[in-house]
Amino acid sequence: MADVLVLDSNYRPVGFCSWDRAVKNIWEDRADVIKEDESGRKLHSPSFEMGMPRVIRVRNAWVKRKKLSVPFSRRNIYTRDGGECQYCLKALKTNDYTLDHVVPRCLGGISSWTNLVLACLRCNKKKAGMTPAQAGMKLMNKPVEPKVDDPKYNFKLHINSMRPEWKEWETWLYWNVELEK
Ligand SMILES: [Zn+2]
Repeated sequence: MADVLVLDSNYRPVGFCSWDRAVKNIWEDRADVIKEDESGRKLHSPSFEMGMPRVIRVRNAWVKRKKLSVPFSRRNIYTRDGGECQYCLKALKTNDYTLDHVVPRCLGGISSWTNLVLACLRCNKKKAGMTPAQAGMKLMNKPVEPKVDDPKYNFKLHINSMRPEWKEWETWLYWNVELEK
């Protein structure tokens, strides 16, 4: 369970860890608590009581990144598609992009590397609930899963759900957290 957001020594998010790992690092004086559980949840043992950590800051970078697969995140889809609409090649700003299901969800299309592409609002609207062929549109690049050894992709971990204590970092989370498949 990844329920603690981990910040590096410069207060930048670097990933997530389990609460017991967070407690161990706090206990061993390798991390500081930045935010505790808002609902007041406590951890008890015979010798101590502390608030459940939700955001911690580590003093040294002990967060190891497992490069098993490229995380399926908005940022990485944006990177793979070069920030361009995959139908008209319009350059998209990070605030005016959409993610298009090549095979639309209403036709059973899933959210995956090979079925999600960057699209401008206009193309996404035009395509609507159709396949590219049905809409008379052409995909400029075949969407593929990126290779793990490609350094341009961002490696972050997944979480189960957003937590209220992470609100401050929600932009970072929006871009880096893995999308549900
Ligand atoms: Zn377009």
